[in-house]
Amino acid sequence: MTTPINVAITGAAGRMGRTLVELASRYPGLRLSAAFERADAPQVGQDAGLLTPAGSLGVPLISGEELSAGNFDVLVDFTAPAVSMANVAQCRALRRAIVIGTTGVGMDRSQLQEAARDIPIVWAPNMSVGVNLCFKLLDLAARVLGDEVDVEIIEAHHRHKVDAPSGTALRMGEVVANALGRNLSECAVYGREGQTGARDRKTIGFATIRAGEIVGDHTVLFAGAGERVEITHRAENRATFASGALRAAHWLAQQPPGLYDMQDVLGLRA
Ligand code: NAD
Repeated sequence: MTTPINVAITGAAGRMGRTLVELASRYPGLRLSAAFERADAPQVGQDAGLLTPAGSLGVPLISGEELSAGNFDVLVDFTAPAVSMANVAQCRALRRAIVIGTTGVGMDRSQLQEAARDIPIVWAPNMSVGVNLCFKLLDLAARVLGDEVDVEIIEAHHRHKVDAPSGTALRMGEVVANALGRNLSECAVYGREGQTGARDRKTIGFATIRAGEIVGDHTVLFAGAGERVEITHRAENRATFASGALRAAHWLAQQPPGLYDMQDVLGLRA
């Protein structure tokens, strides 16, 4: 039997953190060895498992300011951009790997690249295995269908989401635009109203729905003469992101220093 990889979760009392704690406690090949939270979070000192349906796991929540207080091979971080960047520096000093799911960290890409000279890092704004597979399928579909089709991207999220289109929809647009040799910032059309004129085939259209508690739906529609191809992903709950992050942690423990994303984790890099 191989030794399990010690994985720590930071932001462990958060929405993603709780899902990660629960899934990590039963993920094959991983052992939940530490759980971190903000030093002043009321849950510090409690058993991390008690915040989840898993129940007691014997892993107390400890302050995330001193990562050296926990024993781990890989840290999984879904917190906030400034916290994640501080954790990258701490992991670099400790020579530990880190999986970052926090959105907005990509703006500090040069800092991630610098730290990745010493430690393995996975950063992906969407950790869903299905979404990352869709990126690959979209690249293939766009290359095969080429300029013979109209491309429209339709996304739906819960009523609390404050930005539109979603980061994932924009990334899907970029993948299609790159495959077609277009620049998304020049060809994107965000919503239509009134006398729009006929559609320009070179554009990529976006449509946004905000309603109820929809976790996240994305469809990319390729419409040509006599047929349509639709590639759809539907997220049903946070487990899709958490299980992708844990798959990344398992994979990252065996990698040399470098900056990776989910295309690397899933073996989809061309
Ligand atoms: P959340 O606010 O519920 O959880 C964040 C947690 O981090 C909180 O419990 C907070 O107390 C904790 N935290 C803050 N400072 C800390 C510190 N110094 N040390 C340890 N813990 C600290 O937010 P959430 O919904 O879980 O989302 C977290 C992040 O993950 C956001 O950026 C979100 O956009 C992103 N996200 C990414 C994906 C993906 O697939 N990559 C999916 C979902 C959410």
